[in-house]
Amino acid sequence: MKRIDLRSDTVTQPTEGMRQAMARAVVGDDVYGEDPTVRQLEERMADIVGKEVGLFVASGTMANLVALLTHAGRGDEVIVGHLAHTFLYEVGGSAALGGIHTCLLPNREDGTLDLGAVDAAIRDREDVHVPRTKLLCLENTHNRCGGSALSVEYVDAAARLARSRGVAVHIDGARLFNAARAQRVAPAELARGADSVAVCLSKGLGAPVGSVLCGSRDFIREARRWRKTVGGGMRQAGILAAAGLYALDHHVDRLDQDHANARRLAQGIAEIPGFSTPQSHPAATAWTNLVYLAIAPSLAEKHGLDAAALSRQLRERGVLASAIGKDGLQLRLVTHLDVAASDIDVALEALRSAARGT
Ligand SMILES: *Cc1c(COP(=O)(O)O)cnc(C)c1O
Repeated sequence: MKRIDLRSDTVTQPTEGMRQAMARAVVGDDVYGEDPTVRQLEERMADIVGKEVGLFVASGTMANLVALLTHAGRGDEVIVGHLAHTFLYEVGGSAALGGIHTCLLPNREDGTLDLGAVDAAIRDREDVHVPRTKLLCLENTHNRCGGSALSVEYVDAAARLARSRGVAVHIDGARLFNAARAQRVAPAELARGADSVAVCLSKGLGAPVGSVLCGSRDFIREARRWRKTVGGGMRQAGILAAAGLYALDHHVDRLDQDHANARRLAQGIAEIPGFSTPQSHPAATAWTNLVYLAIAPSLAEKHGLDAAALSRQLRERGVLASAIGKDGLQLRLVTHLDVAASDIDVALEALRSAARGT
């Protein structure tokens, strides 16, 4: 039985072409600045997102951590949504290592923050009682908000507000390419208001390792020091960067397929009695590659079918999905490079039979 792994877009295997590119990569010691393949990737990504310079790092978590450490010092404050990856899933690194204070604002369903609330949250610089607001963090696409894509208009408006108050903007763009493809805009347009942007190569782009943090020359000079501080100075990292370059050549346009597969999966889920998905919500904006499935409490009671039981039953049929959230009634299903259109039919059939209790 073929295993259909919908737990995350991080589970992809490097393709044959990608492995060959890695094997052939010209490498050097990147801590000495001598790895040509890393340099090429950094320049290429900076160009794509419209920033001066890029910095290759080990993970999305490291990209965000290094960005926050560069933007803010001890006791400084960073504004972030309550469902942001940076807040929920990055081990509190910015507090542990940087003494950075977090100002949490509620994420709306579409992943945005209310800009009136952002404006009100920015502190008075003259008041000795309060921390200094240094940074606003946005996430695009927004992972916990259904993979929703923030629009260019929204990011620009948030950036205008932040800039007018002397606050920098960082975009956690782990899935920035998904946001760009889904809205038919350039990644640089989505990032033009930001001072820094972090992009994952190991999510939808299908590379095994790595993220690139991009920003101004001065910003990246400091970020490079922080990368070394957190143990992220890698040596012949061009072997990894080569996979990233390959992904930029071959795996960007095909994200459309992942989005089409996710849309069909969500539409199929919406037709199963007892299951729903926020993606069928009228307010849903651009579709990307994440599908969240909610189990109706009545179904959960009748069949004992909570998220853990549903994911067990799916697993028996060769379909893997992650139970997520605190209520025990949500699953996340993610489409990616290793999920074919026909796999969506298999997953939907497995979901239907689980809902029927057969
Ligand atoms: C996965 C993810 C990260 C972290 O990336 P890792 O490479 O897993 O550390 C950061 N932000 C978002 C939105 C993510 O989905």
